[in-house]
Amino acid sequence: MFPSEFEYLAPTTLDEALSLLAEHAEDAKVLAGGQSLIPLMKLRFAAPAILIDINGLPGLSHLQEDKRGRGFLRIGALVRNAALERSELLKARYPTMAAAAPLISDPIVRNQGTLVGSLVHADPQGDWGSVLLALEGEVVAKSATGERRIPATKFFDGPFTTVLRPDELAVEARVPAPGPRSFGTYLKLERKVGDFATVGVAVSVSTERGVVTRAGIGLTGVGPANIKAVDAEQALVGHRLTDKAIRRAAELAAAASEPRTDVRGSADYKREVVRVYVARGLHQALAAKAA
Ligand SMILES: Cc1cc2nc3c(=O)[nH]c(=O)nc-3n(C[C@H](O)[C@H](O)[C@H](O)COP(=O)(O)OP(=O)(O)OC[C@H]3O[C@@H](n4cnc5c(N)ncnc54)[C@H](O)[C@@H]3O)c2cc1C
Repeated sequence: MFPSEFEYLAPTTLDEALSLLAEHAEDAKVLAGGQSLIPLMKLRFAAPAILIDINGLPGLSHLQEDKRGRGFLRIGALVRNAALERSELLKARYPTMAAAAPLISDPIVRNQGTLVGSLVHADPQGDWGSVLLALEGEVVAKSATGERRIPATKFFDGPFTTVLRPDELAVEARVPAPGPRSFGTYLKLERKVGDFATVGVAVSVSTERGVVTRAGIGLTGVGPANIKAVDAEQALVGHRLTDKAIRRAAELAAAASEPRTDVRGSADYKREVVRVYVARGLHQALAAKAA
């Protein structure tokens, strides 16, 4: 099907894009990689009167660390999944992200789709939402009237819904720099390569002298939005990554999931996959000597 008619605007500066958003907020949609928006428009699930294409904007393609404070990684709104997949910086310092990037769909989608677009799209089966929750990242939003930083824990507001205002552009995502003894991974069960997650699990652990100082666990595809398994995280902090602690955290993460039976599997099956994958991710942390 063809999309319904729309006006196409291609600003060339951030200020221009923000003033267009301020002017047309309720009628406009931002176009980034188009991998979610264009299919929705073709199916007529979305029919924006105006498309604001941000692909010509300068200064949104950065993927770099910032040393301010305890340091953080900045991922600009035009950084494609393919760039994340290739990034040596991610492989060296951000293993949860490095593990997730090649698992996002297929090469065509990864070449166009952006991490920030995926966060804004807020598909409960999107992988990046769980990664951002596990890593305690945030989204930086700009509008004609200012800028705000929204923690991942406050960003998602339900299926396909975030707290981003229609006049705001998400300009980058940020992820705190890892501590010296940190490990992470992303495990994804998919029916076939390129499929959305049946279950995805993001794990991130930091330790000091063998004791967990920070734990992050995000769950994909097992609830109405990406889930941060807070009880499981808290059960790990202050403890060594023993088999018992891992088993307990995995059980708590499974209890935090709210899967539904669908074509990808039964609710019981998905909950069990959460338990197994959280335990597997934490055992990998142990093997990587984060402890
Ligand atoms: C066949 C297929 C398989 C896929 N498989 C997976 C998968 O396995 N895992 C996964 O995580 N994702 C998957 N996706 C989704 C893919 O990752 C999308 O690219 C991503 O969700 C959206 O990114 P985008 O840059 O294409 O955004 P777009 O499609 O351009 O936009 C998506 C939404 O976000 C808004 N938006 C985008 N950028 C901004 C911004 N900077 N500020 C404000 N609003 C913005 C748009 O207005 C729109 O509402 C798949 C998509 C397809 C087509």
